Amino acid sequence: MPPANPNDSAPRAPSELPCPQCRTRVVWSSENAYRPFCSRRCQLLDLGAWADESHRIGGESAMDEADIDAMLREADRDAPLS
Ligand SMILES: [Zn+2]
Repeated sequence: MPPANPNDSAPRAPSELPCPQCRTRVVWSSENAYRPFCSRRCQLLDLGAWADESHRIGGESAMDEADIDAMLREADRDAPLS
């Protein structure tokens, strides 16, 4: 088996990307365990924002349905029948 093409196996020059959370330039390398984030803090912030958002949306829509239901029932009760 011939040796692998050095161009294929050569590591690419480290590229820099802005951290999605704080926009700090981050070197994209296997040494950066938090990529694409610059740090564990930014990684957790992003995950937390995600979890927070889905939690909030789910709770709101459930409450909205209950609210609408209650409002409709109240409107029925309050509406004069005569
Ligand atoms: Zn960051």
